[in-house]
Amino acid sequence: MLLDDRLLLGLPPSAVPEMYRQGKDPAKIGHIFISHLHADHYFGLPFLLLPYRVGILTRETPLQIVGPKGLADATAEVCRYAWPGIHRKGCLTDLPVVFTEIEERGEGEVGGLRFEAVYTNHFDMLSFGYKIYLGERTIAFTGDTGECEALDRFLEDVSLLITECTHSDPKETVSAGHLGVDSIRRFAAVLRPRGIPILATHLTSEPPPIEGVTAAQDGGHYEL
Ligand SMILES: [Zn+2]
Ligand SMILES: [Zn+2]
Repeated sequence: MLLDDRLLLGLPPSAVPEMYRQGKDPAKIGHIFISHLHADHYFGLPFLLLPYRVGILTRETPLQIVGPKGLADATAEVCRYAWPGIHRKGCLTDLPVVFTEIEERGEGEVGGLRFEAVYTNHFDMLSFGYKIYLGERTIAFTGDTGECEALDRFLEDVSLLITECTHSDPKETVSAGHLGVDSIRRFAAVLRPRGIPILATHLTSEPPPIEGVTAAQDGGHYEL
């Protein structure tokens, strides 16, 4: 999810080619927030970092990448398999990139952007959702998570909720590590009266219509 061309929430392998297809400039991205170390959330990093490594892209301020502890090592390991020759020369050294790894929930600031990391419930992984203070707005992003108490944090003082809804078919059994339609209906019941939009993502099928909820599609544009 790319917000205002400058904030990236998660980075699947398909994200960078999609950005080029849509004429988006990856060099404009100032911050990336990674929720957890599953492939669909960070295996896009080798594609994003390669143009900096080979000098196709340059930037004046470092790219800030925030994620759970182990993110930098995991990224180096993925790059080792992705671009072996480049990796041997030092895949991540001297790049205009700063990794900020998070071990515990709490507030932080990187590159002038304030955020709060919230523990989420995702198959016993170290996994975070984020509240990000983007100018006047507070963006809440659940990452991948099952039901847990921390989700209430995403409903307080937010301007936009971006939530996973993996079990988007109401007939599906909801697993412990992901959310289903009933959770999204509950979020909408809280946020819709306050006029706060919800963007549902990480969908496996088109969810049923829920007032106040937009189902995000790959490549889609949303003005909220
Ligand atoms: Zn996951
Ligand atoms: Zn996922």
